[in-house]
Amino acid sequence: MAVPKKRPSHARTYRRKRANEKRSLVTIGVCPTCESPVLPHHACPSCGYYKGQEVIPVLAEKEKEKKKKEKRA
Ligand SMILES: [Zn+2]
Repeated sequence: MAVPKKRPSHARTYRRKRANEKRSLVTIGVCPTCESPVLPHHACPSCGYYKGQEVIPVLAEKEKEKKKKEKRA
């Protein structure tokens, strides 16, 4: 039976391993204000912030909903 003459180098081994590895097509960042996952160059869907400014009034709407719920209870 054939026996390998030398053991494969680390580079060769990891290159082979990485060839079958699946890489994610989309890079996902982290929101600096609420630390939830965000797409790059997009406003955060959970807090509505982009580049340190509130672009979408998400938090205000959530507070309104909370107040409505409090009034009902
Ligand atoms: Zn956010």
